[in-house]
Amino acid sequence: MNTCKNIKDLILTDYMDSEVDLSTREQISSHLLNCSHCRRFAAEAEKNLAVPFKGKIREDVPEHVWSSIRQSIENAAMANTQSKSFINNFIQIFSFPKLAPALGGFVVLLLMGTFILNSHQIKQVKEKEQGEYLASLWKTVDFENSDLRTPIEEYFL
Ligand SMILES: [Zn+2]
Repeated sequence: MNTCKNIKDLILTDYMDSEVDLSTREQISSHLLNCSHCRRFAAEAEKNLAVPFKGKIREDVPEHVWSSIRQSIENAAMANTQSKSFINNFIQIFSFPKLAPALGGFVVLLLMGTFILNSHQIKQVKEKEQGEYLASLWKTVDFENSDLRTPIEEYFL
């Protein structure tokens, strides 16, 4: 039996995601036909939940999020190549010439945009810690070889 509470729960969860099976959807529909209270609730829920969510996906992702994504990718690449090309990868972080390969992933990244926004704060902290770790690594590098001196090095000394 469908109480109004059951209907509301379904509306707020599966029904909004269109993941409810057909018979449940029919149960909800028929209840909404007979219950003006739940009908109003469904309309409000759609207005307050579904519509803002749809709008959010189409929003432009702020530039600082792209920077964060870009930096994460480059940090991962740097971790894979280890210290052998450490200096080259490090320099790449400060000059962003390699956006072209990322264009292919833009559609997927757009869909992830909302999620990334939520986890962006956490990610920032992690990147800060990683940056400090890399800076401490850099200080252990042998500086006798003056040919290795770069603006990046100046920056961290
Ligand atoms: Zn009802």
